[in-house]
Amino acid sequence: MDSSSIIHKTAADLRLAPNLADYDAERRRFSWDAVSREFAYQPGGGLNIAWQAVDRHVWGGLRDKPAFRFLKPGRPGQVFSYGEMAGLTNRFCNVLRGLGVGKGERLFILANRIPELYIAALGSLKNGTVVSPLFSAFGPEPLATRINLGEGIVLVTTDSLYERKVAKWRGRMPSLKHILLVAEEGGTTNVPGTLDLASLMAQASEICELTPTTGEDMALLHFTSGTTGTPKGAVHVHGAAATHWATGHYALDLHAEDIFWCTADPGWVTGTSYGIIAPLLHGVTSIVDGGEFDAERWYGILQEEAVSVWYTAPTAIRMLMKAGGEIVKKYEFPRLRFVASVGEPLNPEAVWWGKQVLGLPIHDNWWQTETGGIMIANTPAFDIKPGSMGRPLPGIEAAIVQRQENGTVQVIDEPNREGELALKAGWPSMFRAYLHNEERYRTCFAGDWYLTGDLAQRDAEGYYWFVGRADDVIKSAGHLIGPFEVESALMEHPAVAEAGVIGKPDPTVGEVVKAFVSLKNGFEPSEALRMELLGHARKRLGAAIAPKEIDFLIQLPRTRSGKIMRRLLKARELGLPEGDTSTLEGGA
Ligand code: AMP
Repeated sequence: MDSSSIIHKTAADLRLAPNLADYDAERRRFSWDAVSREFAYQPGGGLNIAWQAVDRHVWGGLRDKPAFRFLKPGRPGQVFSYGEMAGLTNRFCNVLRGLGVGKGERLFILANRIPELYIAALGSLKNGTVVSPLFSAFGPEPLATRINLGEGIVLVTTDSLYERKVAKWRGRMPSLKHILLVAEEGGTTNVPGTLDLASLMAQASEICELTPTTGEDMALLHFTSGTTGTPKGAVHVHGAAATHWATGHYALDLHAEDIFWCTADPGWVTGTSYGIIAPLLHGVTSIVDGGEFDAERWYGILQEEAVSVWYTAPTAIRMLMKAGGEIVKKYEFPRLRFVASVGEPLNPEAVWWGKQVLGLPIHDNWWQTETGGIMIANTPAFDIKPGSMGRPLPGIEAAIVQRQENGTVQVIDEPNREGELALKAGWPSMFRAYLHNEERYRTCFAGDWYLTGDLAQRDAEGYYWFVGRADDVIKSAGHLIGPFEVESALMEHPAVAEAGVIGKPDPTVGEVVKAFVSLKNGFEPSEALRMELLGHARKRLGAAIAPKEIDFLIQLPRTRSGKIMRRLLKARELGLPEGDTSTLEGGA
């Protein structure tokens, strides 16, 4: 790479002295124990994410400082100070106690980005109750699958989402004892079989004693998808707060005076770790936008809210690029000083676009549901090589490895060689289990190494470059989608004999979900049937997961052992070489 394609850090990029200035020295000096001392005090001892995120600042003199500014298109914004968040989360904790919900039990949240989601998540943590956020664009099928796998006792949702996605399916979620409803249009709700959250909150006390939790107690359950089988519930603990704090410090460069905007939805791990926890741990003010993507509005938010640190995603950046240069000229962002992105490969043009249009380069970083927090990042401390995910943060040891037949791995020390990205186990936010799936959890580790399932390369200067996934999962608009979940929903349609699902490259959202189906005897391919299948999948799975394209095939390629060869479907779709087809049924 010649030096003209490197973005050198300039004084203009660093409007404040950065938290991380000397990368090598900080890595040498760093210890997780030192970070944990940040949370040394807690009434009654132990460690609780919510107390450290909210009440610690109230004790520290930030009672009146805004913790969140919630925005909604066409409505006035709502500001909640740290003091108000402390009181409201205490109330929610007391609501759970009143219902007899206790430590370790699971509470699911299905909501748009409304204040109640944030209050319920933090209040639940104060009660030691485990939080599992769901994405509001999921359909009834993925919702029920996750609530059942997590044995959800409580569901917090809105009247409208309940009506559309839960009511008819409730019988299929037998573990749910309490459904707490928020009225989307304000006021109270009165829906049989549910409780009105606003009324319960009004009756609950604002004072509550924390349920004792330690750093190893389970705090969050985030579902993620693999190639096969049902989604996996990655278990995270209260001690993860140390990673959230450290990564907010190094990778997002959070300073107390920042106005921070994380655009991710808490239904996905970024929206929880960095949309709720990390900024609060740093005592900063967060912007939460309840609206959908809109280029004009987003530039307006950056300007009007005086956002200083912005954490967003490649799909959103590419949509802003697509919206063109004229819109952005109407806005100014004098306060914006640091921009970061995560979730999918950030193409070099997008990094340069940031430099040209926002006046700031975009700092790509890498992590995944299992890691709980950012692991590899472009930071203020070193130059950016556009297209690279950056370097491992202090406290994180990464390597490129090759799996061996005997279950061990060989570390590839030579630079620029492709292999699997691995991380040395032991950082605080590392997932502790896949819920009820010990076997699957164990296969993620070889000795001390956690194997990420991503293929990557490391260059001679220690920068990591993403190559692709080692498995068949699909990344669409930053969301990880398991092909099996989509195939299963398609197979429920009476016309479908078999289904195979792939990610088809797309210039804006990375990949779109494309399905191939073969039909049962008595059904013929037609445009009407294609539309029916698209509608069927969308109704069950929701817009976030459903396929955007469906093709009919007479028969799907299978291995001799009967597995659908998605790799071959993809190669054929893209006109690429078919690779090794020796295991193909009826093949060579
Ligand atoms: P999730 O668990 O849903 O957060 O998805 C994690 C996966 O997203 C990773 O294993 C990668 O495949 C992908 N990913 C996350 N960040 C990046 C990035 N900066 N560049 C490329 N891929 C990424």
